[in-house]
Amino acid sequence: MELSTPVEKVPRVGPWYQKRLKRLGIKTVRDIIFHFPHRYEDFSNLIPIAHIEEGGPAFAEASSGKPFCFQGEITDLKNIRTFRKRMVLTQATLKDQTGTLKAIWFNQPYLISTFKKGDYVCLAGKVTKKGRAMYLSGPAYEKIRNPKSEVLNKLQIPNSNLTHTGRLIPVYPETEGLSSKWLRFIVKPVLLEIKDKLPDPLPQTIRQKFDFLPLNQALWQIHFPDNLESSQEAKKRFAFEELFELSIFVLRERLKLAKEKAQAVPLNLGVIKEFVGGLPFKLTSAQKKAAWQILKDLEKPRPMNRLLEGDVGSGKTVVAAIAILNVVKAGFQTAFMAPTEILANQHYDTFDRLLAVFDIKVGLMTGKKKIKEEADVTVGTHALIQEGVKFPNLALVVVDEQHRFGVEQRARLCRGYGGQAKLIPHLLSMTATPIPRTLSLTVFGDLDLSLLDEMPEGRKKVITKIVKPQEKRETYEFIREKVKAGRQVFVICPRIEPSKTSNGQLNGQVSQRQFSWLDVKAVKQEYEKLSKDVFPDLKVGMLHGKMKTKEKEQVMQNFKEGEIDVLVATSVVEVGVDIPNATIMLIEGAEKFGLAQLHQFRGRVGRGQEQSWCFLFTESPGLITNRRLRALVSSDSGFELAEKDLKIRGPGDFSGQRQWGLPDLAMASLADVSLVEKARNEAKDILHLDPELEKYPLLRERLREFRERVHLE
Ligand code: ADP
Ligand code: MG
Repeated sequence: MELSTPVEKVPRVGPWYQKRLKRLGIKTVRDIIFHFPHRYEDFSNLIPIAHIEEGGPAFAEASSGKPFCFQGEITDLKNIRTFRKRMVLTQATLKDQTGTLKAIWFNQPYLISTFKKGDYVCLAGKVTKKGRAMYLSGPAYEKIRNPKSEVLNKLQIPNSNLTHTGRLIPVYPETEGLSSKWLRFIVKPVLLEIKDKLPDPLPQTIRQKFDFLPLNQALWQIHFPDNLESSQEAKKRFAFEELFELSIFVLRERLKLAKEKAQAVPLNLGVIKEFVGGLPFKLTSAQKKAAWQILKDLEKPRPMNRLLEGDVGSGKTVVAAIAILNVVKAGFQTAFMAPTEILANQHYDTFDRLLAVFDIKVGLMTGKKKIKEEADVTVGTHALIQEGVKFPNLALVVVDEQHRFGVEQRARLCRGYGGQAKLIPHLLSMTATPIPRTLSLTVFGDLDLSLLDEMPEGRKKVITKIVKPQEKRETYEFIREKVKAGRQVFVICPRIEPSKTSNGQLNGQVSQRQFSWLDVKAVKQEYEKLSKDVFPDLKVGMLHGKMKTKEKEQVMQNFKEGEIDVLVATSVVEVGVDIPNATIMLIEGAEKFGLAQLHQFRGRVGRGQEQSWCFLFTESPGLITNRRLRALVSSDSGFELAEKDLKIRGPGDFSGQRQWGLPDLAMASLADVSLVEKARNEAKDILHLDPELEKYPLLRERLREFRERVHLE
């Protein structure tokens, strides 16, 4: 057995299980042993039965609900049907040298065939005290309810090397039909067979320097830890390893890029001054500074790799327009990529308005539409990078609201970028999603950053309110008044969560597609409710991701022109859409969204001169939710909120790393700044001494795998 051995070849993994393993992304032995538990159940407290009896040493602990473990012989075992409650009870008696204990399982009749009278077993779970014999007649023994069980070899009692009981038990991310118990049953023998044969990709010097566990020990301790501390120690090692590999990967990409050539674009100050002078507003100093940094980058014959980060409404588009103008005036093409068609259309309009007077041809390319083939600047969606699209004279690529864009996509845009030398275009990415520093260091490898940390003048702060169910009606009235006064409203529908399995695990079967259909259902319901019951006197419209492009555009157009008062939408409107007359953002089920996303929604309003409001409707403000929503009320800085979100929830998926396929532990450790810095420093050192990693074939191999898995796009 090797790391690359497919699961099909692993003993006891039949086709039925293979399918389910694939659902968890597990295809090889490597995937099996690197499918880490996300928590542990503590069944390590193995005691004699008599200890929980009245006056026994564990009696007090027992009543506190702490789980115990008992080993003994099954002396009695039967299924009982209760008629009143229509349940099957499986009842067993466990006997050790000190006493007996009654065990009951509810509705698991099949248990009766997993062990039999006379078997030695280990039972683990919470016990209940005497005198609570509800369903059973006879002596009221101490009872253990729904215990976890494991059959033992009689000769090995007391048995200390158990898998499902008698220790800290790993609980894994599961999927339907694939339990932690089954995973333990598979993982343990695989680990035992392979762990000592695995070479450790983490260089020994580094392991020693930070006192990390060697690979074999770390693997064992993360699955079957001796205690919680050693599981933590193992976890830290793997987190470091992932961060270290990620850092090497990203730093090498950066080094490679630094060797590439790009078109040097001369600065045309005259035309830029003319452009800026013609704007209906004054640029903020942050905008000026960012534009200057970009123009300076463009002058160099090396590809720019710059992120323009600025809160919603901070005015990123006009900064991009300056860069585009400069490039086009120097005689080159630019491409501007937006994440949705709505946004692509909006930017097309904006650039056409801003740049047409400079005799610049603006084109549009989405899945459905193509305007002007030979444009100077082509605005589009992902359609821009599809096969066959060529920009023979491309010198600058701008990507809006999508910091996920990366190396791969740029490579695709470069296809067919003709000319003599192998030039690659400059890249400007723009985002309103503030990226915590640790994330930008690791994932983006220190790409150059321009910050718009200043809002255009005259913006009024959006007033944010948490609305409890009993205050809804009042809020609707308020909204009605504002609409009567000419304002417009966004209503964002709650994200519907995928069904959960009994263990509270996300059901792995729910695909992206089902997600959005669920969301559509939510929008339709909300639309019905608002248009019929709440605002029958207002014009209510609807927008969701499953509508045809034409329909979507029509709706947006109607909203822009004031034909719609209240627009009910999914998170389609999340990014970028600019409707200054919309002053109210109402978010239903606000607790279902992340902080960063809520902040994005809020950024859809407050774009004009009027006072704007953001109402957060919430049914069940739990503790964490409440903290999150209150954070939103108290802060209007996306940067501050991102840091808070990182603290409250961990990095979660607010910046989309799930889609990048980045390693979980590394992402979960981003809040640990010192670990991130250590990993990064070690990565730098190693690349400095050995850029091609010739002395580290194992690391090189890991990087190759990394490359396949991670797609920074
Ligand atoms: P974002 O950074 O969210 O992409 P936009 O570029 O869409 O923001 O700008 C939001 C609005 O602010 C636009 O209507 C834009 O014309 C306007 N705007 C941009 N810069 C300024 C400025 N310096 N002063 C006033 N308004 C500005
Ligand atoms: Mg924008």
